Amino acid sequence: MTLTIDRLLTNASEHVATMDLVIGGIWVAASDGGTFPTFDPGTGEVIAHVARATSDDVDAAVAAARESFDKSRWMGLSNAQRGAILWRAADALSARADELGILESRNMGIPVPQARTMVLEAAAQFRYYAGWADKIQGRTIDLGGADRRIQGYTLREPIGVAALIVPWNAPLISAAKKLAPALAAGCSCILKPARETPLTALVLGQILMEAGVPSGVVNVVTGYGETVGQGLAEHPDVDTVAFTGSTEVGRTIVHAATGNMKKLSLELGGKSPVIVMGDADLDAVIPGVAGAVFWNTGQVCAAGTRLFVHDSVYDEVVEGVARQGRALAVGYGGDEGVDIGPLISQKQLDRVSGYIASGRSDGATVVSGGNRIGDRGYFFEPTVLANVDQSMAVMREEIFGPVLGVMRFSDVDEAVALANDSSYGLASSVWSRDGAVAHSIARRLRAGRVGINVHRAGGVYMPAGGYRQSGWGRESGEEALANYLETKSVVATL
Ligand code: NAD
Repeated sequence: MTLTIDRLLTNASEHVATMDLVIGGIWVAASDGGTFPTFDPGTGEVIAHVARATSDDVDAAVAAARESFDKSRWMGLSNAQRGAILWRAADALSARADELGILESRNMGIPVPQARTMVLEAAAQFRYYAGWADKIQGRTIDLGGADRRIQGYTLREPIGVAALIVPWNAPLISAAKKLAPALAAGCSCILKPARETPLTALVLGQILMEAGVPSGVVNVVTGYGETVGQGLAEHPDVDTVAFTGSTEVGRTIVHAATGNMKKLSLELGGKSPVIVMGDADLDAVIPGVAGAVFWNTGQVCAAGTRLFVHDSVYDEVVEGVARQGRALAVGYGGDEGVDIGPLISQKQLDRVSGYIASGRSDGATVVSGGNRIGDRGYFFEPTVLANVDQSMAVMREEIFGPVLGVMRFSDVDEAVALANDSSYGLASSVWSRDGAVAHSIARRLRAGRVGINVHRAGGVYMPAGGYRQSGWGRESGEEALANYLETKSVVATL
């Protein structure tokens, strides 16, 4: 089946498309013909039906990946050729940023201009790792004998078949963050997009095939987590799972992977702290903090959801962030002038509403927001909660919605202790005009990323990942390659 993106971009119900799986370089229906609907979260309407892969389909995808790997279809190309193919895929993503941005927006709700930026970020991943395809090198190691009669060196080899399981909150970027380094490393892959957002992953599969990735090297298998995700995590012929998603499902994957002791990289949840010192530039802090928590309707793993503000500026910051939240235009992602779109689903709407209710009953004060907007789609007001403490669920658990909890502190040690009091350790930021103070706090925070006077930056260049229960391994930067490589030591007498 040739994928007809036009059919996905129209609202007309007679054009609702049915999308197949990509297995072994061709489009195939699920083995039992099953499909599931995928929705527009801004309207709740079905926009496409997508193949619901069975266990047999998982086996077929793994077999296709295994065959392509064992026959060196991908590693049989020169490193430069593989790099050129990844670069072509990046170019195709960039060239199609408008239509893919609209598709991503329709499937997950984010405003179209932001979705378009996400497509370009996905392209940047392919471009960056295209550059790595011919730069993955081992080392020569001097084994130290006096007569130099023995010599060692290392080879960096692809790990094999990689299952890539991704969430719905940034579908194309999440897929690119795994596929690009896995392919640069020489792996064969099975991509499993989230059930909520399968569409751009399927287009990406098509783009990679058109760019010249040989058949079987990239397979895209849509379906349910408990069948496809679990099936891949348990599969004896999968060598590594790279997973992005909740800590809860990450834990399931750890257990499932024990059968063949497959390697794992896990990008999990977060409850990231933001520390605002008394000397911070509040003109930067207030939009920075609001952006850190409300962007993408708070559906961001690294969102700054716990705000700790110095006593001296507490009232001004809380009122400023609440004001920014109230000023955001919440609306349909395809409409002009919208700042943030809906939550992804009814389930997510219920989850966020449930946390607000729990915060209220625990004694939190709702400074702004706190309610659903309208009754069509899953829109929710940007919300600021005060009078919270670290024992409350709203301050301990990942809500994954536009909800900020704010507490005050009076000295640096207290701020650091509050920030580190979490089972997560994904991201953080500290806002201060005093560089020495900010850098010393950066060293003390138990998180994979610290922003100083910024919350989110770094893109493809900086490694990202979690301390504690926020995950294992790193994505982006050179570090991501390690998830897809083995190191072989060779020693030889001379
Ligand atoms: P999720 O854990 O529910 O699902 C993630 C993926 O796992 C989906 O593809 C899903 O179908 C699949 N899955 C579900 N059950 C499975 C199972 N039993 N075995 C294997 N796979 C299974 O997460 P979500 O709701 O899609 O996304 C939100 C979560 O993702 C949040 O917790 C967020 O913090 C996290 N996230 C983390 C990062 C990061 O880089 N650390 C980035 C984005 C999102």
